[in-house]
Amino acid sequence: MSFFKTRDDSPAKWKEKYFDLLDSQEKSEQEHKTSQDLLCKTIIRFALAAKGYNTTLDPHLDRIRELLKTGVKIQLLRSELEEFSNALLSMEDYSNRERADATLLFDFLTAHFPDRSRDLENLRQRYAAGDYSSPQLLFSSLSNILADNPSETGDFAGELALADTQAIGRHLLELLEGADLPGEFLDDGNKLKNRLQSGQPLGPIFGDAVNLLMSIKDHLRLEQQDMADFLSALTEELAGLGLLATGVNIAAEDAEKKRHDIDRDLASQMADLQRKSATATQLEPLKQLVGLRLQSINQQLQSYAMQEQVERDKTQRELRNLLQKIRDMEAETSELQSRLDAAQNRAMRDPLTNLPNRLAFEERLTDEIARANRYGGALTLAVWDIDLFKNINDTYGHKSGDKALMVIARLLSGHCREADFVARFGGEEFVMLLPETTLTSGLKMTDDLRKNIGKSSFRANGDKISITLSCGLTQYKQGDNNESIFIRADGALYQAKQNGRNQCVAA
Ligand code: GH3
Ligand code: MG
Ligand code: MG
Repeated sequence: MSFFKTRDDSPAKWKEKYFDLLDSQEKSEQEHKTSQDLLCKTIIRFALAAKGYNTTLDPHLDRIRELLKTGVKIQLLRSELEEFSNALLSMEDYSNRERADATLLFDFLTAHFPDRSRDLENLRQRYAAGDYSSPQLLFSSLSNILADNPSETGDFAGELALADTQAIGRHLLELLEGADLPGEFLDDGNKLKNRLQSGQPLGPIFGDAVNLLMSIKDHLRLEQQDMADFLSALTEELAGLGLLATGVNIAAEDAEKKRHDIDRDLASQMADLQRKSATATQLEPLKQLVGLRLQSINQQLQSYAMQEQVERDKTQRELRNLLQKIRDMEAETSELQSRLDAAQNRAMRDPLTNLPNRLAFEERLTDEIARANRYGGALTLAVWDIDLFKNINDTYGHKSGDKALMVIARLLSGHCREADFVARFGGEEFVMLLPETTLTSGLKMTDDLRKNIGKSSFRANGDKISITLSCGLTQYKQGDNNESIFIRADGALYQAKQNGRNQCVAA
C-alpha cells in the first residue's frame, strides 16, 4: 500500500504515534478545561460583584451565573452574553446616577424593612419604568411607605408590626429616662415620656423629640458659653479675694500665724472649688456650689478682718498705754534728775553764801591740776581767811557774822573772771583757783581785791565796821597734787597772818 512509504511506517510505529497524539490531545483538553473553569469562576465572581449596580443588568448577570454554575452550554452562554452586551451598550446614555443609587437604596430598605418588601418592590418597578421624574418624588413615596401613620400609609400601616412600634417607643422611653436633662427641659421630657407610655403614635412624638433635642443642643451651647463667661468672672473674683487676703493689715504679733492659717484654708477651699469646677457638667449646680463657697470664704475673711481689727485696736490701746507709761517714766526720770541735780548742787554748795563748797573745790582742783599738767598752763591757788572774825561774831552777833560772810563771798566772786573758781572752804576761809594766771598776776589781782574789800564798809547793828582778809598764794608746780599745793598756799596765808594780817603772801 502506498500508505506505508518506508520501513519505519510499520503498523507498530503508527500505533505509537496514535497514542502520542492521544496523550497530547488529552493534555490539551485538560489545560483547556482548567482555563475554562478559571474563566467561569472569574465571570461568576464578576457577576456577583456587579449585581445590584443596575436592575437592567442584574437578570442577565443572574442567568450568566446560573449557566456557568450548571455547566457551560456554549450556545446559551453566547446568546446570554450578547444580550448582556446589548444591555451594556444601551446603558451608554444611561447617565442617571440617582437611579443606580436608588437601586442600592431599595435593596437596603428591603433588607431592613422586610414587612414592606411588597410595596418597595412595586415602587422599585415603577421607578425602573421611569415613573418618577425627580428623586424628590421617589423619596416622598418612600417616606409614605415607611411612615407609620395609618391615614397616610393605608394598608401598609396595618402591616407595620406592633412589636416594632413598641420596641422603638420603649427604646425612646429608656433614652429619655436615662438622659440627664437640664432643668428647664424636664417638663417637656416628662410630657414626651407620658405620651410614649400612653401609646400615642410615634411619628409626632419623634418630631417633638427631635425638636427637644435641638433645643437642648442650643441650650447646652449657650450654657457652655455662659459657663466660660462665668468661670472667667469666677477667676477674677478669686483673684480679687486673693488680693484681699494678702492685703489684710497685720498688727498683732501672732497675726502672721493666723494669716498663714487663713491662707492655707483659702488655698484648700479654692483647690476644692477648682476640682469641682473641672468635673462639673452642669452650670447651675456649679454656680450654687461656687456661690456657697465664695460666701463661706467671704465670711471667713470678714471674721478674720474683724478679729484682726479687734486685735489691732487692742494693740493700739496697749501701745498708747505703753507710750503714756514711757512719758510718765520720762517725767519721773526728769524729776529725779532735777532732784538729783539739786541734791548734788546742795552737796557741792555752801547754803549760806551759795558758793561752791570745799567738796566742789576739791573736785575742781583735781581737774585744774590735771589740765595744767596736760597743757602746761599756769595755775594759781589763793587761800583767804577773814581777819579776827571771831571778834565780829562776838561784838555784833552770829547773824551779823553770817551776813558779813555773805557780803565777803559776793565781793570775792564778783571780782573774779568767768574762768576763775571761788569756793567757801569752811568757816571764814575762802579759796580761789585762777587758771592761766601766774603767781605774780595772781598776787596783783588778790592784793587789789584785798584792798577793795578793806576799803568797803559793812553795817552791823547800825555800826559801820571794816573787814580785812589775809591771803596766801602759790602757783602749781610740776608734780603737785591737791594736798601739796594747798599746804603751800596755806603756809603763805599763815605767813600773812604772822606778818600782821590784811596782806597777801605768795609762796
Ligand atoms: P584770825 O585773824 O587769826 O583768823 O582770827 P579769827 O578770829 O578770825 O580766827 P578764829 O579761828 O579764832 O575764829 C574764827 C571764827 O569764825 C570762829 C567762829 O565762830 C567764826 N565762824 C566760823 N564759821 C562761822 C559762821 O558760819 N558764822 C559765823 N557767824 N561765824 C563763824
Ligand atoms: Mg580761820
Ligand atoms: Mg580768821
